[in-house]
Amino acid sequence: MSEQISVGGTTVDTRHWIGGRRVASAATFTDVSPIDGAVLGEISRGGAEEAGAAVAAAAAAFPAWAATPRERRAAVLRAIADGVDKRLEELAIVETLDNGALLRSHRRGVMPRVAHNFRFFAERLEGLGHDDFDTRGHTNHVSWDPAGPCALITPWNAPLMLATWKVAPALAAGNTVVLKPAEWSPLTASLLAGIAADAGLPPGVLNVVQGYGAEAGAALAGHPGVRRISFTGSVPTARHIAAAAAPNLTPLSLELGGKSPLLVFEDADLDLAVDLAAEQYDNAGQVCLAATRLLVHAPIAAEFTRRLTERAEALVQGDPRDEATGIGPQIHPRQLEKIDGFVRRAVADGARVLAGGGPNTALGGLYYRPTLLTDVRQDSEIVQEEVFGPVLTLQTFDTEEQAVTLANDTRFGLAATVATGDRARAERVTARLVAGTVWVNCFFVRDLRAPFGGSRESGVGREGGDWSFDFYCDLKNTVSAPGGWRDHG
Ligand code: NAD
Repeated sequence: MSEQISVGGTTVDTRHWIGGRRVASAATFTDVSPIDGAVLGEISRGGAEEAGAAVAAAAAAFPAWAATPRERRAAVLRAIADGVDKRLEELAIVETLDNGALLRSHRRGVMPRVAHNFRFFAERLEGLGHDDFDTRGHTNHVSWDPAGPCALITPWNAPLMLATWKVAPALAAGNTVVLKPAEWSPLTASLLAGIAADAGLPPGVLNVVQGYGAEAGAALAGHPGVRRISFTGSVPTARHIAAAAAPNLTPLSLELGGKSPLLVFEDADLDLAVDLAAEQYDNAGQVCLAATRLLVHAPIAAEFTRRLTERAEALVQGDPRDEATGIGPQIHPRQLEKIDGFVRRAVADGARVLAGGGPNTALGGLYYRPTLLTDVRQDSEIVQEEVFGPVLTLQTFDTEEQAVTLANDTRFGLAATVATGDRARAERVTARLVAGTVWVNCFFVRDLRAPFGGSRESGVGREGGDWSFDFYCDLKNTVSAPGGWRDHG
């Protein structure tokens, strides 16, 4: 097995990163590019042994990193951000080859955001703190004590962005971490390990263990030395992780799936509403926040449907490295089959295909046509379950009340988007939507100061801003009496 592979001209180490060293496993898994099925490399496949070694390395590094002054920790985080900026092009290319998302989005949006994750939490750390407050002359002082080694388990749809959304605040807080990237897209995590080491992050503070969820992931989730688990992924996996964490009562943050609605009212700017709907095909629909349920006011439904169908059919599908491409491949054959299964069952159940409806046979491989379905029942699988592909359903409503009822009628609550020209309506409707994030006349505007997470089965807890520090720290309140000091008698 080759320990160093060349991916789009960048050398990537296929081994784990544990305690500041590259560590190989005897077992490997094959990493394949979704663009054309090319084998990228054989990757070290960790299990309980590697997970245990990584947690031990994280535990050994913890006291010194936790005691490192805030300014120094912030400086290292900023140096990591600089390293990401310096290698932005390489990271973008490797990520695109590994997960098939558009190269131009990686270059212009995603990788700059990776660097921003580190800069943001460095700055936030420096400002962290409440004013002390008084209780009958006693002083209350709140501090954020680092919790210990953290297990960070991440998905493949935005690998480095979602990993660093956890790594950055966990390290800023003074914790040490073991990152377990998804087995379908492990490469940028390995590059991150190198960037962090070059930036001066001490050995053992960031560890990366690659492997399958049921092996490496499960071993981390159930490890008694882990003091926090932050997981982004699917609901079924979250249940496994919560069960594995239960014996140790390890605190969890869960960022899970969604089936988010886009509500389009008759008073909305129709051009904008169609743009918002078409945006839901981004990343080939593999976006947790995607508004995959279009709920459209009946009087404008025909015109909206006509325009969106045209847009879906006009989307240029192809190699995600081409500037002109609007939609690339799905990540994996299993994902493609899963998506197609949802669509076939929906059609068998009475859904009508307005656009797409199957794999792109002209391209072959993992390309699935942007799909729009209508005549779907609210209680049907296609409306209730997350597809995680370029598949939107369109339903109509007659009243605001009906729109809100339909919007809230799934077991998820990650996000919701409202298109309306009426401010009062926007206020009424947003107040009633069950969701961690609500957008009005916009989509995907993200500020790291805001809380992020899902309601109901879309998640447990919130990260972002100081909420990230609340999660990654053991908060402590120290109450001091006014008297009792030797120097004051
Ligand atoms: P997944 O749950 O299959 O896998 C996510 C990670 O968990 C992977 O690293 C995997 O190896 C690991 N894993 C799998 N089984 C495990 C186990 N038993 N124990 C420990 N770890 C295990 O999810 P996925 O298919 O990679 O990602 C898609 C899902 O992620 C979708 O549901 C999507 O909505 C969700 N997602 C949510 C957000 C969010 O912020 N809410 C963001 C992106 C993706």
